[in-house]
Amino acid sequence: MRIGVIALQGGFAEHIAAFSRLDIDALPVRLPSQLDGLDGIVIPGGESTAVNRLMREYGLVGPIRELAGQGLPVWGTCAGMVLLAGKASTPANGSLGLMDIEVERNALGRQVDSFESDLSIPTLGDRPFPGVFIRAPLIKTLGDGVEALCRLPNGAVVAASEANRLACSFHPELTDDLRFHEYFLTLSRGDAFTKSSY
Ligand code: GLN
Repeated sequence: MRIGVIALQGGFAEHIAAFSRLDIDALPVRLPSQLDGLDGIVIPGGESTAVNRLMREYGLVGPIRELAGQGLPVWGTCAGMVLLAGKASTPANGSLGLMDIEVERNALGRQVDSFESDLSIPTLGDRPFPGVFIRAPLIKTLGDGVEALCRLPNGAVVAASEANRLACSFHPELTDDLRFHEYFLTLSRGDAFTKSSY
């Protein structure tokens, strides 16, 4: 298994470290040629406007769209989720458009810049998942093919999947809980998620 983590800006090192703890080869990706032979792509958190601009400059947008269209699993966390969205509040036209979701940037950040909250994510089992939110976006609308994986107590959707695409508002890579990373690997392998030991 080889997972590529887009490494232009933001929290790529933390994702690479999390996959390493699962004994998975995770490689920083900056150039289109580094997308060859991957089993999955992660777009980390950071600043979505900066990553968007750099992904375009480095010629990554077209190849990522094409690989995702061929079924390669793609996971966006926080700013990465903003980039996966079909529509984001801003930049209105800047996203990869790989998920049928509408995202509002900084929706949680305006009230509190950063907070932690125990999340219920039934797909990952009964144990609460530690949600770390940093100027986090929310999913405002979900298309027909999109499954909500996690909601805040007020009903706001903070994680979703659509076929081979996965998105979350929070930062699993900043916690010790590796279940979200393991779940992404099951998409890459085509396995069912089996209860993790973490
Ligand atoms: N607010 C940032 C953005 O919209 C995302 C923050 C993050 O990734 N932690 O780009």
